[in-house]
Amino acid sequence: MIYMRGKLDEDSLLVTENLVNGKWIEGSNTPVAVDDPFTQGVIAEVTSVGEIETQAAVDAAQAAFPAWAARPAKERAAILRRWFELIIEHKDDIARLITRENGKHIREAYGEVDYANQFMEFYADEATRVLGETIPAPVSGRRLLAEPEPLGVAAAITPWNFPLAMLTRKTAPSLAAGCTIVAKPAAMTPLTALAFAKLGQEAGVPAGVFNIVTGPSGAIGKVLTSSPVVRKLSFTGSTEVGVMLAQQCAGTMKRISMELGGNAPLLIFNDADLDIAVETAMVAKFRNGGQSCIAANRIYVQSGIHDHFLSAFAEKVKTLKAGDGFNDANDIGPLIDDDAVCKVEEHREDALARGGELLAGGASPGGRLSLPTLVSGVPEDAKLAHEETFGPLAGVIAFDTIENGIALANKTPFGLAAYLCSSDPGTIAHVSRQLESGMVGINTGLISTAYAPFGGVKMSGVGKEGSHHGIEEYLNRKYICHAGL
Ligand code: NAP
Repeated sequence: MIYMRGKLDEDSLLVTENLVNGKWIEGSNTPVAVDDPFTQGVIAEVTSVGEIETQAAVDAAQAAFPAWAARPAKERAAILRRWFELIIEHKDDIARLITRENGKHIREAYGEVDYANQFMEFYADEATRVLGETIPAPVSGRRLLAEPEPLGVAAAITPWNFPLAMLTRKTAPSLAAGCTIVAKPAAMTPLTALAFAKLGQEAGVPAGVFNIVTGPSGAIGKVLTSSPVVRKLSFTGSTEVGVMLAQQCAGTMKRISMELGGNAPLLIFNDADLDIAVETAMVAKFRNGGQSCIAANRIYVQSGIHDHFLSAFAEKVKTLKAGDGFNDANDIGPLIDDDAVCKVEEHREDALARGGELLAGGASPGGRLSLPTLVSGVPEDAKLAHEETFGPLAGVIAFDTIENGIALANKTPFGLAAYLCSSDPGTIAHVSRQLESGMVGINTGLISTAYAPFGGVKMSGVGKEGSHHGIEEYLNRKYICHAGL
């Protein structure tokens, strides 16, 4: 089946303006073209605002904050729930927008809408469960309280690889906590975010509570990070930009959440179930075309299962088809831009030049397509073992003992996700504790959910998103000491 490439059921969801203080505005910069990564044709020109409009968005969020924070949590929850329902009602259009601007396969776009909307539903509920504490006082006549209060205005800067989910993951806990927000989506995928904003307005989000700006990231980022009014920055993107933004935030001592780059290892041990290991590798590596921060970047296979695993994995990889994300016959859409394709090519050529063997896939067939590719015998010094490939290239590296496998997995400054496959409870318990990563998937490559705390350690960032931990990132626990009782 060929999906309708251009047509949305509701044209009003193709939005190119920004939302500031409840009004749709245009910036004075040259609009920014958004292209379809498969056809490379322009699908929209989105307005580009600068410092003045960004400051106006911050001012609007500041003005809206007291009333929003004071509103009963039940009412904030009802608005988030309505937003959640509207996303369900417009699921087809949102999925189409994601595939059009990001390129990912439409099946994965639908999957992203479901995943993204989990955050809306979860935090609609969580809004009413933000509880304070009464602490037993060490002396008589006193009552000690720890009361949650929203931090104030939050800023959110999001990447292109999950244009809806990365935004709901920040917006929902922020609004549930009572914060107001200014969001800036990635330049390559603003349309999904703007459609989300439109649905928020329809859901009854008051003016100034949710604002969205698009334009030059440096200028917008400077306003958001230097403003003393903005009390929180939640960023998802590259480690390089995250480090820079954290430095910019230091001057106003903001609370920060940084969801940054990864270099996830997948360890397959001798006692792993072969089918589970292959399935884990397929999902951990090829979901979202490999353009995921938690994608398995390095696949380490113990010598006893190495050859069996490789032949079964190669057969599966050969079945994957790259092509138009709107064509049901394909599995993987194009990559986001030409640089992304070049990086995959570079990593594949480097692995082969260092003695790796090509077992599936190969060079890009052109455009922004990158073939699902498998290289075995990759040496430890290959680029793909050290840098995020962010594409559908799997490199397999053999190891011998369990301790060697752990050492290889931890040999990286990053620590977002790690995966392991084993059927031995002792190995699972030992290895999952030794892995230096914020998250561990055991016998599964699919770990993301709104119900669990997502986040990294080391250079992969600070803070958690999702679960009850995610809302804490937008709250201050105010200590109140009441004496003379
Ligand atoms: P990126 O280049 O760091 O961009 C991310 C966001 O930051 C975009 O909105 C971008 O805006 C903005 N930005 C860039 N330079 C900026 C500046 N000087 N000031 C303020 N904002 C700035 O990353 P990306 O290429 O979009 O995303 C891929 C990276 O994100 C990968 O490393 C991936 O691992 C990571 N990621 C991490 C997670 C996680 O949860 N840990 C999830 C998804 C992705 P423009 O697009 O307008 O330049």
